[in-house]
Amino acid sequence: MIDYRQAQQLILQQAQSFGHEELPLELAFGRVLAETIRADRDYPPFPRATMDGYALRYSDLEKNIRRFTIAETLFAGDTATRTISEGECYKIMTGAAVPGSADLVIRREDVKESPATMVLRDEVEEGWRLFQNIARRGEDLQAGAVVIDRNCRCEPAVMGLLATLGKTTVKVEKLPRISLMTTGNEVVPVGTPVSPVQIRNSNRWLLEGALKKEGFDLASFAHAPDDPAALRQHLQQALTSDVVILCGGVSAGDADYVPGVLEELGVKKLFHKMAIRPGKPTWCGIRSRLHDDPGQPSRETMVFALPGNPFSCLVNTILLIQPYLQACLGLPVSQPLGLPMGESRKKRSPLDEFFPVHLFGAPARLTPVTLNGSGDIRLGRQANALALHPAGSGDLSADDEVLCYSFV
Ligand code: AMP
Ligand code: MG
Repeated sequence: MIDYRQAQQLILQQAQSFGHEELPLELAFGRVLAETIRADRDYPPFPRATMDGYALRYSDLEKNIRRFTIAETLFAGDTATRTISEGECYKIMTGAAVPGSADLVIRREDVKESPATMVLRDEVEEGWRLFQNIARRGEDLQAGAVVIDRNCRCEPAVMGLLATLGKTTVKVEKLPRISLMTTGNEVVPVGTPVSPVQIRNSNRWLLEGALKKEGFDLASFAHAPDDPAALRQHLQQALTSDVVILCGGVSAGDADYVPGVLEELGVKKLFHKMAIRPGKPTWCGIRSRLHDDPGQPSRETMVFALPGNPFSCLVNTILLIQPYLQACLGLPVSQPLGLPMGESRKKRSPLDEFFPVHLFGAPARLTPVTLNGSGDIRLGRQANALALHPAGSGDLSADDEVLCYSFV
């Protein structure tokens, strides 16, 4: 039995990229960039008016000129057809390019306007600055500057940025092929009749949901009864994937065949059992397999065999599977936050205990959510985070700080 942080370390050491692929921008939402992105030109690309108003020459203000002839009106996207000289100005709109002959923009509110001329208002005379209300070319980024230098997810702001930079295709991390296998004679698919001693397969949906939320799809799903031959047969197929997630059959019962069958099939054990509650029986291992392309080096299949209780599945997903997949994609691994408890909590096990909490408020506090043991199908429904009641500590009091993993 190992500490869960040690288990995390062992798993993160195995993390490796699943390769790269080039995708059109429209297919990149939620994917992880695998290239350095540089500015294709200066940003802003031209001196941009940041206010609706009048563009003119600062030197005219120094000469005490206050009345200007409007030489031209410039809308966003327009190119000026002439330069201005002393006593002239452009009427200009936000987003328009400020011609080189002007070097500041005065807000519309600060002038008296007529169709052909404008006069500066006396009351706002002071404080004019060179380049006032102009975002200067290259002041945000210079052409060639690195804009994104490490793997990051294509979230809305990143998508907007890529479009700005003219990227029509991007190199992204390939997604792993993930196989999910649930086990248990008592577990039946939702939608089929369920006898009084059977339960519905909820973990299939819980685990698939946790993966989908992070942008992963299942390559295959299978359910196996508690029978070594059936497990072996289903597993042989699943082990051709990059990641195999199993659920159930890993603890100490007479029907818990999963670890034995995995080892028989050549999966090398990384650890069996973590000193946590719930979720203790977890078994993790790794197996080399030949690459689909014989020219490529062999790859590894990572195997997570989780206990069957729904809350244990959730805990293991957050502690092990998510960090592993993040690391494989080159993303920063989510770290827990230290936050104060909103109320007290009794210690129930000498191990590191994970419990569902509602993280809420400003400043944020954690309120434990009722969970009647790891088999409670409600899974701490109102919870939005998982908190740690550490081994070696006593009961928690309100305001005690604990670590918590947000999962929404
Ligand atoms: P096990 O880890 O196989 O000993 O299962 C622990 C508990 O989780 C048992 O009560 C199982 O019935 C339940 N369980 C196992 N697999 C599933 C599943 N796929 N969906 C819901 N509950 C499950
Ligand atoms: Mg079972």
